[in-house]
Amino acid sequence: MISLPLLAHPVSLVTLAKCIWALGVVSWYLLRLPFELKVRRTRVADATHRTLREYTLLTISTLGLGIVPAVFCLTSWPRGLTYATSPLQVTAGALVFLAALWLFWRTHRDLGRNWSVTLEIKETHQLITHGVYRAVRHPMYSAFFLWAVAQALLLPNLVAGLSGLIGFGILFAFRVGREEQMMRETFGPQYDAYMQRTKRIIPGIY
Ligand code: SAH
Repeated sequence: MISLPLLAHPVSLVTLAKCIWALGVVSWYLLRLPFELKVRRTRVADATHRTLREYTLLTISTLGLGIVPAVFCLTSWPRGLTYATSPLQVTAGALVFLAALWLFWRTHRDLGRNWSVTLEIKETHQLITHGVYRAVRHPMYSAFFLWAVAQALLLPNLVAGLSGLIGFGILFAFRVGREEQMMRETFGPQYDAYMQRTKRIIPGIY
């Protein structure tokens, strides 16, 4: 007879939610990898915005969306700030992460070789206003916010759950204005017109 160890030791809901979060992060990385390899061959024309401040913001965001939740998944730290979750909350988290991954894939496809981790302008940079960029100016940041919301739903811990929203929120708040300024300097009236007809991350709202 085949034994069913999983039934003898049922996986807890929190463990399942942690696995879904980890699967989401790994999927995001695999999804982005081919675009990252492609973009490495693209020459940069203006990297003056690639500053220590940029790398500090990226570190803060990585801590919030990656390191702090990973520590919770592996060690359950900080234990005292964990609360009870529910199947509904975990399901909602999984669905929001799926939506984030779909949006990441779309933004990468639309942005193509114009994408970069830090703020920079490529030699052959083109202003993209089609696809998901028709709906908002920063759909990749919308996708990161969806990831952060999914993390808050999946990880029932006040620190690990909310660190994504705080970490990415800081990067967004200190970066988006500079990014738009850089795009205006590069594309002039074309970007001004684009700004006139679009919102930043939520269509029609913000
Ligand atoms: N803020 C965008 C892109 C993030 S990647 C988003 O959230 O979808 C960051 C790089 O994308 C910046 O260095 C900038 O050069 C480039 N970028 C931003 N908006 C762009 C656009 N509409 N068209 C082309 N490149 C863009």
